[in-house]
Amino acid sequence: MNKFRLILAIAVGKILILFSRLMGNQGSNFPGKMARRIYPGILQQLAARITGKIIIVTGTNGKTTTSNMLARIIKQTGASLVHNQAGANMIPGITTAFIAATGMTGRKRFDYALLETDEANVPLLLKEVKPGLILITNFFRDQLDRYGELDYTVQVIREAVKGKAIDLVLNADDPLTAYFRDLTAVRCWYYGFAPGSYGSRESRESREGRYCVICGQELQYQCYHYAQLGKFSCPGCGNHNPGMDFTGHGLVMHPALELRVDDMLLNSPYQGFYNAYNIVAAVSAARLLGIEPRHIQKAIADFRPEAGRMETFVINGRPTILILVKNPTGLNQSLAAVIEDQGVKNLFFALNDQVADGRDVSWIWDADIEAIETDRKIKQIICSGIRSGDIALRMKYAGYPAEQLVIKSNLKEGIEYLSGLTGEINYVLSTYTALFACRKILLGLQKRSAAPAGKVPVRG
Ligand SMILES: [Zn+2]
Repeated sequence: MNKFRLILAIAVGKILILFSRLMGNQGSNFPGKMARRIYPGILQQLAARITGKIIIVTGTNGKTTTSNMLARIIKQTGASLVHNQAGANMIPGITTAFIAATGMTGRKRFDYALLETDEANVPLLLKEVKPGLILITNFFRDQLDRYGELDYTVQVIREAVKGKAIDLVLNADDPLTAYFRDLTAVRCWYYGFAPGSYGSRESRESREGRYCVICGQELQYQCYHYAQLGKFSCPGCGNHNPGMDFTGHGLVMHPALELRVDDMLLNSPYQGFYNAYNIVAAVSAARLLGIEPRHIQKAIADFRPEAGRMETFVINGRPTILILVKNPTGLNQSLAAVIEDQGVKNLFFALNDQVADGRDVSWIWDADIEAIETDRKIKQIICSGIRSGDIALRMKYAGYPAEQLVIKSNLKEGIEYLSGLTGEINYVLSTYTALFACRKILLGLQKRSAAPAGKVPVRG
């Protein structure tokens, strides 16, 4: 009976996946949701067909990039893999990923499953799948998560993993996870950056974890890497960074990244310190899985940024870089990467306030936008999206000259205006619901500018 329901659930799921693809949706929750109605045990059963390890990647920022890097590394070895799409990272979306990968009878075996999920979803997921490894990138305050929910989430994850036979891969530079080993009795592996790996500028950013989680005293920092990540110690109880099992060092930003994780030299087309962290995290997990350095190095070197994660478009011979921003820490890091870029540049910022963006746009006031004051190479800032006025006001308060600010609420008008400006490089920052529209406009402009003169492609 169960076998029949499993096969029916898979069949229905596969048909719905086909439909949703025809409708242009990539990752989708709906097929998994419907399949679970038919056979609630479907995820548990399909997850049992993983012969190697189930890996969960979670954390506030960087989990999509980290899990995509790790997926690339695993595929490089020739192993088979079930991997869910970003945007479908709750239980129904993960179920969809398994249905899409399996055959009609649900008996197909895979070497690995790599499941990206939100922090709050981890305890639920642990009820249905048995991971061998959980990687946590970091815990940052998200825009929707500003009333102590972060502490609660950390605690819930801690309780969910307690006493389990899991390898936990944690950020040694994050005071919110550094103490997991003592409190969970789970095998913990720590990764991080050696002090002085990269100029430890004094940071003005918000640091959520700056109070000791054990005794509540304010932490002292020897250096900050970014946000609350760095080398810390507590004057009250002696809490400090745990010893590292995987150490990032020798970081150079060209702005493309070059770094070492222990002895392994890595090159990546990605930019920004936060992506260097993502690389160290993915590489640490890969080493624990026993993957050879040559596979890891090749995968990291070949891994290209995707939609919204520093994807580059060439318009009128100049690069335009698209970046998704969704919370203060992410925005701080995106701005840091923009400032790091020595070229003369223009900035476009699309701020929307739909549900997926967060209805409350006051998070832009928590970000360290004042950092742009030091960058004299930002020639113009174009403010766009539904809340273009709010971002313009924020830029003005951050000290950016009002006469170099332009408001163009319409995305297409704004990006076309941006592309017509002088400068060496353009940056497009966008919140979630404007991202795909921005991308489409950029692709259109790229195509048009690549066409030979006098042969502008005719529509239809
Ligand atoms: Zn303390």
